[in-house]
Amino acid sequence: MLHTQPKPEQDAPHPRITASRLGLAKSCPGSFALGPHVSPAPGEAAEKGTAIHAFLEAVLDGVDPDEALPEDPEARAVCEKIDARDVYGVAGPNPSTETPLGWDPATGEAREAPRATAERRDYSALPEGWVAGTADAVSAEGDAVRVTDWKTGAFEVPDPGENPQLLFLGIAAARSRGKDRAILQVVRVNEDGTLRARTAELGPDDLALAEASLVAVLGRVEKSREGVPELRPGRHCRFCPALYRCPAVAAEATALLEDPFEELDPASAARAWERLAACDAAIKRAREALFLYVAGRGGQLPLDDARSLRIVEGRRQSLDPKIALGIVRERFGEDAAAKAASVSPTSLKKALPSAGAMEVLDEVKKRGGLTSTTYESLREAPSR
Ligand code: SF4
Repeated sequence: MLHTQPKPEQDAPHPRITASRLGLAKSCPGSFALGPHVSPAPGEAAEKGTAIHAFLEAVLDGVDPDEALPEDPEARAVCEKIDARDVYGVAGPNPSTETPLGWDPATGEAREAPRATAERRDYSALPEGWVAGTADAVSAEGDAVRVTDWKTGAFEVPDPGENPQLLFLGIAAARSRGKDRAILQVVRVNEDGTLRARTAELGPDDLALAEASLVAVLGRVEKSREGVPELRPGRHCRFCPALYRCPAVAAEATALLEDPFEELDPASAARAWERLAACDAAIKRAREALFLYVAGRGGQLPLDDARSLRIVEGRRQSLDPKIALGIVRERFGEDAAAKAASVSPTSLKKALPSAGAMEVLDEVKKRGGLTSTTYESLREAPSR
């Protein structure tokens, strides 16, 4: 469903569109017209991802992998398992890392921006109106550039040939280096240290088409900024810096209460799912804000005479899939390993008799394949 809303009266200066926001621009052009953006606070997963990115960057820059290991224990556990030869192999010959790129959608001109040292992502040297972004690694191979984007964490991203961020990076890298082709790759860094690359190769015509599609997306953003914002709520709302001020999500929440899905059909069910996703994103963001507020008050907030809201600590265990599945296979056979295909303490307990699950968990621990992490969350509890 398309929502249109009056443009806010007081216009804030529009921030530069960066590569990482092009996906959001495509899904909801109006998100760039809702005034000052409030970026979501980076979660633990984002911090772990940043530490893994820094490790890969250092390895490609020639630092000894053992010297480059991050301090963050979860990121370090992954990086210790990464084979540096895989990193060199996938990134192509002599890659430049953390390469800032700019592209002018009006003329097609592109260039590399100076690589900032103290403050990395500084695009101030690029003219206004240019789109900017940073490639994790760029290498040149004949008449092509190879652009690598490392991915960590659970979120899946679109295929490289349909990923606006990578398309931008491919266009900007190819144009700035005078190349006709671009090889784009999303390389997922798995928890067991293996790398899985998905690749798309774009020839001259593909690059021209990709450029035209990005120009069209930016045109819709511009139209939203100049007139009535085109707002399209959905699961992408969770990444939106304008979520707090979005009238379309508020409208979706109201609609959810007013329309309890009495007459579902495939189309309305799909629509209801998107609507729920937008509301989930808003709730998650509100919970994060409340968490920070309670944390700032010593971890406790009285709700009334009998109840309070508290920050409590929980523990999560994760298993090294290679080690755990190997042990299940050795002791319980191939069928049991297939049943426990997604390995977690819970799936093991489902797939095996409880004594068997405990035996496997003990053995995984002995072989160094059990990682425990703590997390904090908000809980309502009786007042002390
Ligand atoms: S919250 Fe969702 S609908 Fe609202 S501006 Fe952001 S992406 Fe668009």
